[in-house]
Amino acid sequence: MARPESISGGCLCGAIRFTITFPQDTDWPPTGNGICQCTMCRKHSGSLLPQNCKFPTANISPPLKGNPAFKTYNSSSNAYRGFCGDCGSALTFHFVKEPEFTEINLGAFDEEVLCGKRDESNAWEDEHGRHVPRIGGVGRELCYPQYHIFMENAIPGVTDDFPGPKYLQDKSTGKPLTASGDGS
Ligand SMILES: [Zn+2]
Ligand SMILES: [Zn+2]
Repeated sequence: MARPESISGGCLCGAIRFTITFPQDTDWPPTGNGICQCTMCRKHSGSLLPQNCKFPTANISPPLKGNPAFKTYNSSSNAYRGFCGDCGSALTFHFVKEPEFTEINLGAFDEEVLCGKRDESNAWEDEHGRHVPRIGGVGRELCYPQYHIFMENAIPGVTDDFPGPKYLQDKSTGKPLTASGDGS
């Protein structure tokens, strides 16, 4: 899939909407994309496998901080997390010392971005239900995890078997668990 000009997302209620652009000097697919199983990410997102991706804050418009519905919570002294104060959607992760980057929770991107547009005119039904083909979408490129961190919290047989390099804690605290780093 070619580099998109932009991708859109927002919270569940729609009070927060944003677009991320990909100028030629930015990575496509984005590189800072990983799954973190730390307890704080799990609690904030309500997900066992919270996944987010890092983007230059300057490429996100309109700026999240200018939206009165956008609230933040200091989950530690060096990081805070953003959410919608109206509907509660967990949206972002920010390092205090890196205001130039914003990590967006991947589930906040729009369905058409992640899965493609629904092609209702070519839908069919069988014993499984109604199948609606999709057109476009960049989910595979956008969401393929480049790392897994805090594997010490993995639930055996449930959240420990995914492709990609796996780290016991943060990436800075040790080598990946697999010799090749490819998660095999
Ligand atoms: Zn909302
Ligand atoms: Zn985490």
